Amino acid sequence: MNKPASVPEQFDAVVVGAGFSGLYMLYRLRQLGLSVKVFDSAGDVGGTWYWNRYPGARCDVPTTDYTFSFDPELEKEWTWSEKYATQPEILEYLRFVADRHELRSDIEFSTAVTAARWDEPAKQWVITTGGGREVRCRHYIMATGCLSVAKSPDIEGAERFAGPVYFTSRWPHEGVDFTGQRVAVIGTGSSGIQSIPLIARQASQLTVFQRTANFSIPAHNGPAPAETLRQLDEGRDAYRDAARWSRGGVPVEPTDVLAGAASEEVRRERFEAAWQQGELFGILNVFADQGVNPAANDIVAEMIREKIRATVNDPETAEALCPRGHYFGTKRPCLDTGYFETFNLPHVRLVDLRKEPIVSITEDGIETAGESFGFDAIVYATGFDAMTGALVGADVTGRDGLSLKEKWAAGPSTYLGLMTTGFPNFFMLTGPGSPSVLSNMAVSIEQHVDWVAGCLKDLRDKGLETIEPTELAEAGWNQHNQDCAAITLHPTANSWYMGANVPGKPRVFLPYIGGVGAYRQACDDVVTQDYLGFTRTGPGAVRCTDGVIRSMQPDVAMVMEFVNALGLPPMETLSAADARALMAATAENRPPGPEVGEVTDGVIPIPDGTLPYRLYRPAGPPEGPRPLVVYFHGGGWVLGNLDSDDPLCRDLCARSGAVVVSVNYRHAPEVRFPAAALDAFAAVQWADANAIELGGIPGQLAVAGWSAGANVAAVACQLARDAGGPRITGQLLICPAVDSDLTRPSYEENGDGYILTTALMRWFWDHYADPADRGDPRAAPLRGDLAGLPPACIVAADFDPLRDEGVAYARALEAAAVPVRLTRARGHTHTSVTMVDVVISGAPVRAEMAAALGDFFPAAEPQAHVS
Ligand SMILES: Cc1cc2nc3c(=O)[nH]c(=O)nc-3n(C[C@H](O)[C@H](O)[C@H](O)COP(=O)(O)OP(=O)(O)OC[C@H]3O[C@@H](n4cnc5c(N)ncnc54)[C@H](O)[C@@H]3O)c2cc1C
Repeated sequence: MNKPASVPEQFDAVVVGAGFSGLYMLYRLRQLGLSVKVFDSAGDVGGTWYWNRYPGARCDVPTTDYTFSFDPELEKEWTWSEKYATQPEILEYLRFVADRHELRSDIEFSTAVTAARWDEPAKQWVITTGGGREVRCRHYIMATGCLSVAKSPDIEGAERFAGPVYFTSRWPHEGVDFTGQRVAVIGTGSSGIQSIPLIARQASQLTVFQRTANFSIPAHNGPAPAETLRQLDEGRDAYRDAARWSRGGVPVEPTDVLAGAASEEVRRERFEAAWQQGELFGILNVFADQGVNPAANDIVAEMIREKIRATVNDPETAEALCPRGHYFGTKRPCLDTGYFETFNLPHVRLVDLRKEPIVSITEDGIETAGESFGFDAIVYATGFDAMTGALVGADVTGRDGLSLKEKWAAGPSTYLGLMTTGFPNFFMLTGPGSPSVLSNMAVSIEQHVDWVAGCLKDLRDKGLETIEPTELAEAGWNQHNQDCAAITLHPTANSWYMGANVPGKPRVFLPYIGGVGAYRQACDDVVTQDYLGFTRTGPGAVRCTDGVIRSMQPDVAMVMEFVNALGLPPMETLSAADARALMAATAENRPPGPEVGEVTDGVIPIPDGTLPYRLYRPAGPPEGPRPLVVYFHGGGWVLGNLDSDDPLCRDLCARSGAVVVSVNYRHAPEVRFPAAALDAFAAVQWADANAIELGGIPGQLAVAGWSAGANVAAVACQLARDAGGPRITGQLLICPAVDSDLTRPSYEENGDGYILTTALMRWFWDHYADPADRGDPRAAPLRGDLAGLPPACIVAADFDPLRDEGVAYARALEAAAVPVRLTRARGHTHTSVTMVDVVISGAPVRAEMAAALGDFFPAAEPQAHVS
């Protein structure tokens, strides 16, 4: 019912969209006793399942999982007929939900929301619908879907075609009969792959225009899986809970089988099992490393290509249907029923647009670079302006007149994917920065809606009116989102996850890839920390708990979780011998690090005996001498040896192109201060004197070290300066221990829980040096004279107790006019930057270290490449 403009309707909340999200949001808001109005441009409930009525439209997450869990009675009363239900059945289900909870009375259908504007003085949103009508609300919730805005075809002449044109995402309700027609299907994403086999059954001629071949596996559809039904019968709550805390929203146990480590037999067995199972989360979980390691991914991809070749009779067509140029899983893989088999039918033809692009659509067909085709109908299965299309499609204007479109011009920015700074009381469901399209969305949607409902209840209970994320929190979440994506292969693909399918759309990885459970935990943690990262206001009140909810690199967090779960005894409670044995045992199964050209062991003569060393020479050209790096391992002067830092030395060698000589100095408590420091200096003198024999370039010698190794490297530089030589061209100090003062803030902030603890540092110092010696610059180089030292690169990790002394050393060197490069290992711990091929996010930091070494040797050869 329209009201005069002078008396705008007022609601506590307006929700746009009446699909899965909008329906459940309405239900929850009603439960809170809020007045709600829902708008949808569709003619009924269903969202995705209202619009996408093309032949073959089905879900690709098993329907037993792709279902609401909030109402146990609803679950009892509805039984899915198939493992992957069809669009009519899913639509029927959503109608059933709407009927059961009498939701339609608060929904206005066939009503588009065209604009929304924040009215700051009134602390309200003003919503404008298609007819120019305005309604006001306190909270504005866009449940507008992440695959709800079709991408318009960007093909020359598209408007000229005289025959009927169909879009899979806006299919006529009465259906289409293609019997006897010559049909073109443009697009081979999920909708194309689902519809092509069925269109082929009717059409007299079907031509499929393919730009990108996509990975697809057979759905093996049939009755709902007996195993899932059994688990649901045995414990519905436990099953649904497992889904909520899983990676993808379906309870699948993540594998720990690595592709490279598995035998060919095991690989085939695992792949075949996933192939037969016909589930996306299964085929994405054949190997633990297929999403992050190109070689592992290639193994799965090639096995899928083998299947395609075995299915499609014509070798040329088969090859064209084989996906190439993107890693498996980096574009949404598809589930199909007879897709590849369809190309064996005599009236079906594939046109590979990479070889033969479309020149133009004409009045009666399509012209490619090599051929003219006549058609009676064209079907566009060209996908969506995903995740942001509907959000920026309506004109949303926040505080100070800033529109969402303007704010997101360079890519979306959100906190938790739920809200965005500058737009108070504005919520997005399944927005960019949330798991969304990477998950079983029924599970993600319920989580979002519950979180928003909890948030609104909390505001009301506390007498607050507005909520909005802080800039710090939002920037932190965006960073975390990108960090999560960066350790995977996803950003390498031109996918719609990256916005790459829409011309001009910024390339940003849109969904949160850290997993449904991890995301839920972050959202819960925000709440338990008094809505961390939000500003909330009410009459005369401003509450803000500012901060970043996740700042550790995601793979570092995983390693920490793994290590903490092992329940190892704290090192400082062990004897030195037991601590050494424990360290060796934990290093046993780690990856070896990159190949280098040559590794040789030897000994360095010193007055008291010899020091073992290991030399790493880079592979490949040029032959001849290289710059030399003398490296000292970490381990608190007590632990560590040539093996402990072997992968890191290989990495430094391969990346920098320098010869690395790793030196095993003497350890405490057997030999205490200043032995380690003096050994380091002796080793540098020896390396300088023997540069040519070691394959080094005389005069091009740098030192490097990690932790206590960085301590002795720094001391060696001071001793060399004082002794008038040898000349050291640079010092790379990775998370260095440079002072014996353990009171800096980082010892407090990071003193427990990140492997190197403050207690362990105390234990190290106690083993190494008497308290009286700990102020000696040979123990605490920060306390020495720093003038005239070689240029330095200092790596300081965020979650390291030693962080602040590393930074202090950089500042002190700078003050002494020594050139310094301070490299922040963002989101890393003391140990994580050294975990080669385990902590992928450490690779850019190690690349920076190698670059710093390169800068120490201006005439050095170009660096070898390590990804
Ligand atoms: C073919 C297809 C198959 C899919 N299969 C699966 C699957 O198996 N598993 C899975 O997890 N996900 C799947 N998805 C994703 C699917 O979109 C979500 O699972 C889910 O349906 C989204 O629900 P929603 O309510 O958030 O959004 P939608 O269902 O997209 O609903 C959004 C609604 O908002 C309305 N709307 C948008 N903007 C406006 C506006 N300005 N004014 C008024 N109304 C507006 C739209 O009309 C639409 O009805 C699939 C998507 C497609 C297209």
